[in-house]
Amino acid sequence: MSYVDEVIELVVKKNPAEPEFHQAVKEVLESLRVVVEANEERYRKDALLERLVEPERQLKFRVPWVDDNGQVQVNTGYRVQFNSAIGPYKGGLRLHPSVNLGIIKFLGFEQIFKNSLTGLPIGGGKGGSDFDPKGKSDREVMAFCQSFMTELCKYIGADTDVPAGDIGTGAREIGYMYGQYKRIRGLFEGVLTGKGLTYGGSLARTEATGYGLLYLTAEMMKINGIEIAGKTIAVSGSGNVAIYAIEKAHEMGAKCVTASDSTGWIYDSEGIDVAALKEIKEVRRARLTEYQSYRPNSEYHEGRGVWSVKVDVALPCATQNELHLEDAKTLTANGCVAVAEGANMPTTLEATEYLQSNGVLFAPGKAANAGGVATSALEMSQNSERLSWTFEEVDARLQRIMVNICHDMADSAERYGCKGNYVIGANIAGFEKVVAAMEAQGIV
Ligand code: NDP
Repeated sequence: MSYVDEVIELVVKKNPAEPEFHQAVKEVLESLRVVVEANEERYRKDALLERLVEPERQLKFRVPWVDDNGQVQVNTGYRVQFNSAIGPYKGGLRLHPSVNLGIIKFLGFEQIFKNSLTGLPIGGGKGGSDFDPKGKSDREVMAFCQSFMTELCKYIGADTDVPAGDIGTGAREIGYMYGQYKRIRGLFEGVLTGKGLTYGGSLARTEATGYGLLYLTAEMMKINGIEIAGKTIAVSGSGNVAIYAIEKAHEMGAKCVTASDSTGWIYDSEGIDVAALKEIKEVRRARLTEYQSYRPNSEYHEGRGVWSVKVDVALPCATQNELHLEDAKTLTANGCVAVAEGANMPTTLEATEYLQSNGVLFAPGKAANAGGVATSALEMSQNSERLSWTFEEVDARLQRIMVNICHDMADSAERYGCKGNYVIGANIAGFEKVVAAMEAQGIV
């Protein structure tokens, strides 16, 4: 059995009931086969892959808090500090009822390579809780965040582990968590990113993931001789990533015609009204059903369906495993030329393979959505300098980083004889740097 297959088998055996983690390890290691085979003897001797798939540390803790009725609620908190070979652990905190250890591990594992790809000195980590901020009062969210941070603050710090936002963790949650960290530790330091602008946040961080997704997608299309201007785009999700992806796509002269949330999706043939979307989701925290009151000619549908629309480009920006094989077939049949992942692992393995083997350009999340973490790292730099850069300066750096990532993934794929396979290219480019650092630091 090959070394890669042995390690995949080991991961499944050692971590039962963690299917998302198995999927992420499989996806990454499969695509690294060429590199692993070229260095097999050395990697085996150093148990390099076994070390790579084993988190340096994983924390699981009780988060008790009191709801508005005086009832005590108990959630589970997680922080997986996966790999610090190239810098302090860095990765978001997800607050969603579906969160469990396997999901946090899949996200943390992917984060190692994504962070490496940005070219910035940040290791990989991820955390969160099965707490659902939806439908909770501000006071309840604060009570949860304070309890969560009371435990988490023992394990994080500006030079050790710097969490950020993710699904369910936006500016409000980061604010409450930061306040509690400062109160307990007595430190005003860059321990979280995604902070408000009045207390150390970076301009352009809110926009970064969505904007970065478009910078990379446009560059990938350009390398392949296709202009993004004038193209029609399907977007899923209506959260932070989706909103700013739509905004930047429109600025680039493309037209996004869909958005979705966990209950349904909208189709607006004239292009999604970003101001209306922001009002519904960022200000009123309401459902997408409201969109029709802003745009009477748009359509609202229950359930899933954004990938059934005829478009040139698809940008899945909601959650994992939301673009299935059937969707990939429909998109391809409808003439879609590019898919780029705004969310983490939104495309199933079978769907990815189908798209790639049918000539659709495919940018994996670890490259395409790296703009968020890259800008978080820029926020860390500004905090260390105690300076704030202008929006234009951060945005210009973000754009350079995304263009570099695009060329790195394209070049790495070509170097290993897989031209145009950006999944392989992104994994190899991220992996090579982490592995070189791990080897240099000995058996730790
Ligand atoms: P938000 O919480 O702002 O938005 C998430 C969106 O996805 C919402 O529209 C939500 O709908 C929908 N959604 C969430 N879970 C499900 C589900 N199980 N089924 C269907 N729809 C769902 O999150 P973000 O926009 O920040 O994150 C989206 C994705 O991008 C995630 O995969 C995240 O890990 C990834 N990402 C985010 C980064 C960032 O900087 N924000 C950086 C890199 C990656 P509803 O409102 O109904 O819940």
